[in-house]
Amino acid sequence: MKNIIEVQKGDITKLNVDSIVNAANRTLLGGGGVDGAIHRAAGPLLLEECKSLNGCETGDAKITKGYKLNAKYVIHTVGPVWRGGNAGEVELLSSCYKRSLEIASENELHSIAFPAISTGIYGFPFEKASKIALETVQNYLAENPNRFQKIVFILYSDDDYIRFNKIKESIINE
Ligand code: ADP
Repeated sequence: MKNIIEVQKGDITKLNVDSIVNAANRTLLGGGGVDGAIHRAAGPLLLEECKSLNGCETGDAKITKGYKLNAKYVIHTVGPVWRGGNAGEVELLSSCYKRSLEIASENELHSIAFPAISTGIYGFPFEKASKIALETVQNYLAENPNRFQKIVFILYSDDDYIRFNKIKESIINE
């Protein structure tokens, strides 16, 4: 499992993987943060395809092509806004990771990169979100071995990268 999961620091729009995950909002019509960066890098045809999808529920995901990105596909998932922790945020965030992996798998994609969903504008506490991300992916891999060649967690800031690696070391000790 250790050699499937990779932690990197940088910009998700630059990655050369089968699919990158977008932390979108329910309209799927673009926004700030990583969503804005992905739309800018993919070009206007991404928005055109997104318009045909009729939005997406929180915790679910939908796939589009990657257009001008190196990644062949974008999997748009809608993370929960943090409302204090009693509004199903944990389950919804876990569902984002699980549904993204399921959709990648259904489309026979072998590599996928995740940003730190919900931890920016949506305010999900970073450590809690990181644990959910790692545990959900780890559980998926345990149930579906050999489905993916590479699963990347990409962190945008030095600080997040350092914190994420510490959390990973504390929970993945294989
Ligand atoms: P959300 O609304 O789900 O919180 P944000 O886009 O505000 O989404 O933030 C999610 C995470 O994505 C944050 O950790 C942010 O630093 C990070 N991020 C922003 N731009 C990029 C990028 N180009 N590549 C990777 N991660 C990014």
